[in-house]
Amino acid sequence: MTPVDLLDLDGSLTEEERQIRAVVRRVVDDLVRPHVAGWYEAGQVPARDLAREFGKLGLLGMHLTGYGCAGSTAVAYGLACLELEAGDSGVRSLVSVQGSLAMYAIWRYGSEEQKQRWLPAMAAGEAIGSFGLTEPDHGSDPASMATRARRDGDDWVLDGSKMWITNAPIADVAVIWARTDDGVRGFVVPMDTPGVTAREITRKMSLRASSTGEIALDEVRLPADARLPDATGLKAPLSCLTEARHGIVWGALGAARDCLETALTYATTRTQFGRPLAGFQLTQAKLADMAVEWNKGYLLALQLGRLADGGKLRPEQVSVGKLNNVREALAIARQCRTILGANGVSGDYPVMRHANNLESVLTYEGTSEIHQLVVGQRLTGVSAFT
Ligand SMILES: Cc1cc2nc3c(=O)[nH]c(=O)nc-3n(C[C@H](O)[C@H](O)[C@H](O)COP(=O)(O)OP(=O)(O)OC[C@H]3O[C@@H](n4cnc5c(N)ncnc54)[C@H](O)[C@@H]3O)c2cc1C
Repeated sequence: MTPVDLLDLDGSLTEEERQIRAVVRRVVDDLVRPHVAGWYEAGQVPARDLAREFGKLGLLGMHLTGYGCAGSTAVAYGLACLELEAGDSGVRSLVSVQGSLAMYAIWRYGSEEQKQRWLPAMAAGEAIGSFGLTEPDHGSDPASMATRARRDGDDWVLDGSKMWITNAPIADVAVIWARTDDGVRGFVVPMDTPGVTAREITRKMSLRASSTGEIALDEVRLPADARLPDATGLKAPLSCLTEARHGIVWGALGAARDCLETALTYATTRTQFGRPLAGFQLTQAKLADMAVEWNKGYLLALQLGRLADGGKLRPEQVSVGKLNNVREALAIARQCRTILGANGVSGDYPVMRHANNLESVLTYEGTSEIHQLVVGQRLTGVSAFT
C-alpha cells in the first residue's frame, strides 16, 4: 500500500487486480526505474526490448480479448497504466499507443485477416504499432484532416503527412486515418510500404523516453483489403482515443504518485533550520493538499474503470477524468518540485522528468481545452468547438 492512499482505495481492488498491479510494479522496478533517467537524457529508449518484455507479461492490448490478448478488466488495465507511468509517461505511452490505439483500432474495426495478421504479433511485442491521426496543420480539429485516400481500380492511394505520432520511427505498422470521398476511413499501413517514410522528431523537452515521429505518405499504394472495413467516419478514431484516454486517467496518477512519494521521502530526510522540511507547516499543507487531490483522482479513475467494466463508460465521462487527473498530476509534479528545492530540477530525482512528461500528456489525446469543451457541451447542450 502506498502512503498516499489515505482513503484505503486499494482495499476496493479485487485480489486479481492487486496481483496484476504488483507484477507491473515489479517489472517497472526491474526494467524501467534503473535506466529511465539515462534514456530520458539521451532521448532514446529500447522500445523493442521493452515491448517484448511487456508482451511476455500480457500488457500489450491487455484489455482486449482473443488474438493473444489477455482480456483483463478495464480497472486492471488502468492499474497497469498507473504503474507504468510511475516509471515514466513515455514508457506508458508505448503501451497505450500499442494496445489502446493501434491494436484496438484493428481489433474493433479490422477484418478477420487483419486481426490474424497483426494482433498476435503486436500482443507479443514482436510488431510495434502506431496511430496516425494528427497532422502538421490539423491537431485538435481532426475533421479538417488533409491526408487523402483515393481509389485507383481496386487499390487505395494515400497522400499526406501525420505529425507527432508516437512509435512512428520504430513501428512495423501504422493505423492511418485519411479523408476519402465517403468521409474519414482507417487504413492498416505496413511501414515498409513504398512511399511511407518516418522521421524522428528531435529536440523534444518532454516525453524524451518515447519515440515520436512524422509519417510522410507519398503516393502510397495499398490493396483494397488494407482499409479497416468497419471504420466509417471520424467516430472510429475518436472511439480509439476514448480507450486510450481511459488509460491516461490512471497513468497520470502514477506519475503524480511517484512525485509525491519522492517529495515525502525528501521532506522527511532533508533538514533545514534544524528540522526536517516535513516539520514545517507550509510543507505539510502542500503535502496534504496534493494527497487529497491524488485520492480524488484515484476515486475518479476507479469509478470510470468500473463503468468501463460494466460497458457503460461514455466519452464525456472519460473527458472528466482526463481533464482532472492530468491537470492535477501536473500541479502535483510542479508542487513536489518545489519541495525538493534545487534537487527538484536534477535528473537524479524523477520529479522534473514527470512534470515535463505531463506537459505532453496534457496536450495529447485531446488538450485540456478540448475536454473542457466536451464537458461544457454535455452540460449545456451547446457545442462551442467552432
Ligand atoms: C509527445 C506527443 C505524442 C503524440 N502522439 C500522438 C499519436 O500517437 N498520434 C496522434 O495522432 N497524435 C499524437 N500527438 C498529437 C496530439 O494529439 C496533438 O498535439 C493534440 O491533439 C493537439 O493538437 P495540436 O498540437 O495541433 O494543437 P492545436 O490543435 O493547434 O491547439 C493549440 C492550442 O489551441 C487550443 N485550441 C484548439 N482548438 C480550440 C478550441 N476550439 N477552443 C479552445 N482552444 C482550442 C488547444 O487546446 C491548444 O491549447 C502527440 C503529441 C505529443 C506532444
